[in-house]
This record gives sequence, structure tokens and C-alpha cells, in this order.
Amino acid sequence: MTDDLQKPAAPVAKDWIMAIAPYVPGKSKADDGREVVKLSSNENPFGTAEPVRAAFRSAADCLERYPDSAAVELREAIAQRHGLDPARIIYGTGSDEVLHMAAGTFAGAGDEIIFMRYGFSVYPIATRRVGAVPVEVADKDYATDVDAILAHVTDRTRLVFLANPNNPTGTYTPRAEIARLHAGLPPHVLLVLDQAYSEYLDAEDDDGGLELARTAPNVLVTRTFSKIFGLAAGRVGWGYASADVIDAMHRIRQPFSFPIASSRAAVAALEAQDFVEKSRAHNSEWRAWFETEIGALGNKGLRAVPSKANFSLVLFEGETSAETAYKGLMDAGYIVRWLPGQDLPNALRITIGTPEDMKGLVAALRRIVGA
Ligand code: PMP
Repeated sequence: MTDDLQKPAAPVAKDWIMAIAPYVPGKSKADDGREVVKLSSNENPFGTAEPVRAAFRSAADCLERYPDSAAVELREAIAQRHGLDPARIIYGTGSDEVLHMAAGTFAGAGDEIIFMRYGFSVYPIATRRVGAVPVEVADKDYATDVDAILAHVTDRTRLVFLANPNNPTGTYTPRAEIARLHAGLPPHVLLVLDQAYSEYLDAEDDDGGLELARTAPNVLVTRTFSKIFGLAAGRVGWGYASADVIDAMHRIRQPFSFPIASSRAAVAALEAQDFVEKSRAHNSEWRAWFETEIGALGNKGLRAVPSKANFSLVLFEGETSAETAYKGLMDAGYIVRWLPGQDLPNALRITIGTPEDMKGLVAALRRIVGA
């Protein structure tokens, strides 16, 4: 009886779970419910390629069957495109799940996971979920500081998460810096290189991640079909690492992590290279245009952090605050991402959209800052 009285009246969530600040997705509608131009989630403004939609639709005939748990078709298509060993590819419900699997496989209570301040917001969630300790490392003017990461490595470090290009800053860590980071890590630390935006890089900007993952025992590269391939709703992500790392991760993978429609669509997306090329060229052109336009508003305190992704982080360091600009843009019909929850109350992350979107947004922004 007395025992019963001391028991909590409801299930008690673990302390480390309640320490998680929930993920905040980009908004799709204005606060008053109006449909607006969505430039808040780094989606492809061209949608996806038509054969991808057709492949997705084709799966309607086999809804009663479980999808292939081994994802053979998808792994082989990825392996062929990138010259990889299909046996060493892991996959999941978006690369988010692959990131969670990495933390869940290699870290537990009391272990440490390093990532940079202004890193991708899933890293602290994946870290705390397994009871590990997040170790946030200062940036170097919004970019990765390899020396700072290395200075925080201890015997308890199990993982380093690094997005390249990074979200939300758009910054790129060059190949030599990635190599230096890897060389400085002890062999027991898994370097997780999150390449969600790597297809947006220019050809000369390969950070060497896949090459490291091919040869080093402690590097996992993750990729996604959500960005340049335009398949965010399909939820397909994958990773590449040594056979041992992948074998361990498979033990906690959901048996049927993505539907057959998504798998077929992803295979078709890999073949739609014209669409990928068109998306990359458009992004490079309009990101450059946008950065120039923001540069012209330097006298109003605006500054774009140099980006290699499909978005731009705009800092508001003058009279107009990021919050005022965020609200003004929403009134004008544009939703962007304001990031106070990520310690960036002075910044807006803006996805590169169609030419019409970008021209309209810049015109609205100019009015808001009084240019
Ligand atoms: N990594 C980074 C850096 C991202 O920005 C995103 C998307 N927000 C992801 C991973 C996850 O994408 P998905 O789960 O759609 O593959």
C-alpha cells in the first residue's frame, strides 16, 4: 500500500528525453492561415522530375505487400551511381533516421557527441535521445572550426556530427579541413559527415567524404533524396561506411523503413540527372543573384553568410531586426525561417526559390528595411 502511494500517477519520461527541445519544422502557411510562398524548408522549387512521380504512382498496385526490407534495388542504384559497395549502404526514413541510428548504435548514457553551434538541429535531439551528452563547439564566423572540434574530443567522445554544407548557415568545410579533422580524431570516434546538400556543390567542391568513407573505418557519410531530387515527402535517406559500422547500425534499423513507392521514386530520381543538373544550375545562379542583392543592403545592416547550399542565411545587424523582417515578409506572402530557437534570433534562413519568388521576396525585403 505505502509503495503504491509513492509511485507516480502517470508514466514518467526519462530526464534526458525531457531535456530535448522539440524539432521545429518550417511553416507552410502564414500564421493567419493564408497560403504563401514557402521558402522555409529548403525544398526544390521545381518539384520533382516527372518519371519520379510516375514511379511513385506505380507502387499503388502493391500496397498489400511489405516493402523489401533489404532495399536491394535502391542500394544497387546508389552504388552504381557513386561507385560504392552496395553491401555497405544503410538507408532510412530520411537521412534523419540514419543520423539517429548512428547515435543510437555508437553512443549511450554518459558518452559525448560533438557538433558545432549553429549545426543541424537534429544533432542535439539524436544525442539526447540516447542519453548522451551534447558538446556544442563554437563556430568561426558561422563556419566550422576544426581546431575547436578537435580540442573538445575526450575519451568519452563517440561521434562528431558535421553537415557539409551546413544547415542553417550554408557554410562549406573544404576537403583539406575535413581531412585534417578526420586525421585528428582518435579511431574510436565516428565522424558522421552529413551531405544532405552536397548535390548543390560545384563539381570542384567535393569534400572527399565518400572517399574517406570508402577507406577509413570510422567515417559515415549520409545523403538524402529530400533536397535536390525533390522527394522530401518520400522520406528516403542513406549512408555509407565500413562494413562493421553498417553491420552494427542494421541491428537497430526499422525493418521496413520506407514504403515501396518511395523506393521506386528514389531509383527513378537517380536516373533523372537532367533534372538534378537543371536544379543545381538554377540554384547557383539565383543564390549568387540573391547574395548580391543582400550585399547591396549592407548599409541597412544586412549580410548574407556565404552559402554553398540551396538557401542563404541572412544576418540582420542594423536597425531592422530579423523578427521584424520575418513578420514583414509573411505579410507580403513569403514564409522564411526565423531561428531564435537555434540561437540565431538575428538571422533568417531563406530557401532559393523560383526567379519570381526571389525577385518578389527581395522587393518586399527592400521595402521592409526602407531601401
Ligand atoms: N541533414 C541536414 C543538414 C538537413 O538540413 C536535413 C533536412 N532538414 C536533413 C539532414 C534530413 O533530411 P531528410 O530526413 O529529409 O533526409
